[in-house]
Amino acid sequence: MRKRLVRIWLWSMLVLVLIVASLPLWHQRCAGPLAPALMQRIERLGDSALRQGDVPVAAVLLYDGQVVSDGFNAVVATGNIAAHAEIVAVNNFLARVGVDSFRKLDHQRLELISSWEPCPMCAAALAGQGILHVTVLRKKPLRLRWQQELARWQLLRNMRFLREDTLQLQLFRRHPDFRKQDTGLY
Ligand SMILES: [Zn+2]
Repeated sequence: MRKRLVRIWLWSMLVLVLIVASLPLWHQRCAGPLAPALMQRIERLGDSALRQGDVPVAAVLLYDGQVVSDGFNAVVATGNIAAHAEIVAVNNFLARVGVDSFRKLDHQRLELISSWEPCPMCAAALAGQGILHVTVLRKKPLRLRWQQELARWQLLRNMRFLREDTLQLQLFRRHPDFRKQDTGLY
């Protein structure tokens, strides 16, 4: 009887975790069609990736609806694992306007359009930079999304950390803008 209750509890917890993990997906809405010029631009960018031997994924960054930057997947061409289209588009914009100016922008007015749903790395990078409005031409299959999520969970589960660390704290303190609360150590 007790074993059965434990099993029911475990299954309930699993269902609850899956429900909570998929909550953002329930909120997703369809976007209207993109302007033909924008679609052509995305196609050209995708072709550029193809010509370099990369998977054809393209991204365009908009501010107030105006294109301010773009990028395409260049992992193979550059040997840079972070050279996904979304990150390249944001990096190109940052290189032009500078990090300080970028931080002062009203990020609510930024929108990234990607031809393929961002991977966890790109999604985290975009969220980290306050770019929270994203439109994708094509969603990822659920199986691929869960594979990537599972890999992230495995990484977190396998992560080890030192019991005592002073080095990272010392390094943080050398930064001119160091604030204790940013490190989460206090
Ligand atoms: Zn990515």
